[in-house]
Amino acid sequence: MNESCFNEDDYDNAMDIYSVTLNGFSFCTRHGLELCYRCPTDNRACNNIMVMDMLHEQVSEDILEEKWEGDERSPFTVALQWTRLPSGKPGCVIHRTVGCKQCFNWEEKILNVVQGGRKPRKIHNRKARERKDMLH
Ligand SMILES: [Zn+2]
Ligand SMILES: [Zn+2]
Repeated sequence: MNESCFNEDDYDNAMDIYSVTLNGFSFCTRHGLELCYRCPTDNRACNNIMVMDMLHEQVSEDILEEKWEGDERSPFTVALQWTRLPSGKPGCVIHRTVGCKQCFNWEEKILNVVQGGRKPRKIHNRKARERKDMLH
């Protein structure tokens, strides 16, 4: 077992056969899930460590207490959103960028969950994602 909650900078965007880390948040490599019953793995506790300082800076304790579900929050998924780039690093599919701030902006996603009042929608990205961005 080599579970590291405390990723150094170099490991904010890295992958092995078990887990892929994108901007510091880890998911199972096989399914791209933060919480996976098949692998099985639950990365929420580790991932939350990455944003706790930010949360306490940006959000009042009252709201945190009310809205922040901590290790029980709805898990994120990066299924079909990441790929292994030629450099060997994992990056987003859309921009082919390592550590993409648009695709993997966890702080913003977390803030939306806590502050937005909007419930995170379950995204069914079947057809919506079929447009191909040929940025090359
Ligand atoms: Zn899995
Ligand atoms: Zn991107």
